[in-house]
Amino acid sequence: MKAADTALRERAGRSAGGGGATARPETRGGVVDGDPRLVALRERVAEVAGELRAHALAIDADPDGAALPAGSAAVALIRAAALPAERRTAPEPPEVLGDYRGTCLERVVATLELARGDAGALLGAPGPALAGIVVDALGSPAQRDLFHARVADGRTRTFFAMTEPAHGSDATSLESRLERTPGGFALSGRKRYIGNAARAGIGVVFARTGRSPLTIRAVLVERPAGGWQGRRLDTLGLRGAWLSEIAFDGHPVSEDQLLGQHLPVSRRGLWGALQTFNNVRIQVGAMAVGTALAMLDRVGELAPGAPGGEVLRARAEAARELAYRAAAEVDRDPDARAMPAMAKLTGSRLPVAVAHWAAAVLGPGGLPADPLLEKWSRDAYGFEFMEGTGNMQRLHIADGHVRSTGHRPAGGDA
Ligand SMILES: Cc1cc2nc3c(=O)[nH]c(=O)nc-3n(C[C@H](O)[C@H](O)[C@H](O)COP(=O)(O)OP(=O)(O)OC[C@H]3O[C@@H](n4cnc5c(N)ncnc54)[C@H](O)[C@@H]3O)c2cc1C
Repeated sequence: MKAADTALRERAGRSAGGGGATARPETRGGVVDGDPRLVALRERVAEVAGELRAHALAIDADPDGAALPAGSAAVALIRAAALPAERRTAPEPPEVLGDYRGTCLERVVATLELARGDAGALLGAPGPALAGIVVDALGSPAQRDLFHARVADGRTRTFFAMTEPAHGSDATSLESRLERTPGGFALSGRKRYIGNAARAGIGVVFARTGRSPLTIRAVLVERPAGGWQGRRLDTLGLRGAWLSEIAFDGHPVSEDQLLGQHLPVSRRGLWGALQTFNNVRIQVGAMAVGTALAMLDRVGELAPGAPGGEVLRARAEAARELAYRAAAEVDRDPDARAMPAMAKLTGSRLPVAVAHWAAAVLGPGGLPADPLLEKWSRDAYGFEFMEGTGNMQRLHIADGHVRSTGHRPAGGDA
């Protein structure tokens, strides 16, 4: 047994040294494969993603102390890939992103390859991340300028705070409050499981001014400021994401910090942000597929030809294609509901399936003997919860079906 473990470690050590997220033969013929520009983007991002892989284990072991090095190519790429095209200027890595426009499809191509390097390191990296998608959609030009100027230093992390200790899936029941004050509003409430929140410089917080769901607003908050405390939660997987709990106790918020003031009431807050969730959901599905492919690559090196691997790889490639198609659909119709939910649901199930298979084919001691596989098999469970659980995605798929066909189940309300 010990000899087998040593052999596994040696083989793992050889592959861990490789810079890129590994070369692999893959099926052809999908949305991206027909577009040489996207194929080139995928290949270039895959090379840079090797840097995330190189730091993955250190960040997992010590999320407080370890991080991607400032000024690394991966950090610059992650930041640039999350910027809308008009905001990408030198010294971004244009040679890597080419004529990248920041479409949902381009982001999915990049996100999947970066996650194939390592999703935990990706989620913990500085940059606009998911908050940027909301600010770009709901922010006024001045708010977008402020947000992007703040993250331009390449060190500032951002956060997107919706979930509360007692409210996750039922976001419309959130309790954080924005109360009127002479100078604007006072923000109070607790947010939990928020990526990077306890160390971020700027972020978006959802809170309500009244009882109706239309009163749920998104506000831009910046550090340093009083009345805002946070701590990192100790998690089993995706430890680089720095899931945090933050509490606001009368934190002052000016009118200028309310996102969407320039938009119609129905597009300002939670409802306005819903469209962006379609985009974000596919990015999370893509991260899960990237993780699954990374694990398949790894097991392929440790136990070549292990039974069941081809079927799982085919599933992963189909899930990747679904993510690409869903992204292309969102680029055509930002309100598309069903495809993004299918992509998220399909993608998030895969890393767990691959982790179970890996444990079976490598046998007792196989996973612990390979630190990256062991880490990814913990990370695998996080994707189910990010940006809506599987059950929520099923509801979105049903809702999208009803909207597109007008079909109602027998006995359903008219
Ligand atoms: C790695 C990670 C990163 C995250 N990052 C962020 C972040 O940056 N910002 C943020 O705001 N949140 C973040 N979250 C939180 C995430 O959005 C929530 O965990 C998620 O919304 C689920 O909420 P919950 O944990 O309260 O579970 P619950 O909503 O309590 O759900 C528990 C279970 O009940 C099921 N369930 C709930 N309601 C229904 C229903 N109506 N019908 C059927 N089944 C139902 C769910 O599917 C689930 O299985 C993150 C979570 C993780 C794991």
